[in-house]
Amino acid sequence: MMEAGVLLDKKGEVLYWHLPNNRSGGALPDSVDLWSVFWENRNNISGFAHSHPGFGRTGPSHTDITTFNAVESGLGIKLDWWITSGDSMVLVRYNGPGRLDYHRMDVTMEPDWVIQLRALSGYETLNNADIEFASFNGGVTLDPNGPNAGTKYPNGTPHHPVNNLEDVQKIANIRGFDRIFLK
Ligand SMILES: [Zn+2]
Repeated sequence: MMEAGVLLDKKGEVLYWHLPNNRSGGALPDSVDLWSVFWENRNNISGFAHSHPGFGRTGPSHTDITTFNAVESGLGIKLDWWITSGDSMVLVRYNGPGRLDYHRMDVTMEPDWVIQLRALSGYETLNNADIEFASFNGGVTLDPNGPNAGTKYPNGTPHHPVNNLEDVQKIANIRGFDRIFLK
């Protein structure tokens, strides 16, 4: 995981990808280069997005907030500050009255460039096999009164228990489980 950033123009389109050499999963490093790009484009920018490690709802760090405030003070304009995790996104804006009073909103309609920002950030994603395996919760689930027979996924998971011991045994062999859950 590496933090990456992208500067957005007034139409919300990509102006500049910020991919510093020394980026790590912690904080977006201060960068003279990045500041000069902000300054040169100050009449045509709407905001900046950067990525955070991990998944789920994220939010600005204290360093993020002080950086947002310093950039806005330097440019004399307010900007949209987008922050993305591996699977969700928030938009941070100044709403005052204090110098560091920024408000965080959840973003449900994600902009197109998020896909590329996440790719450049190198999130590790679970593949389908991992997701399937995890969905069994450590064993095969049996519900003798249920409707599901056969070994085809998702049969044998807690949401789709199989209804006979023969299928339980087969699924356990295929997946390498030695536990049976009775529903
Ligand atoms: Zn951050």
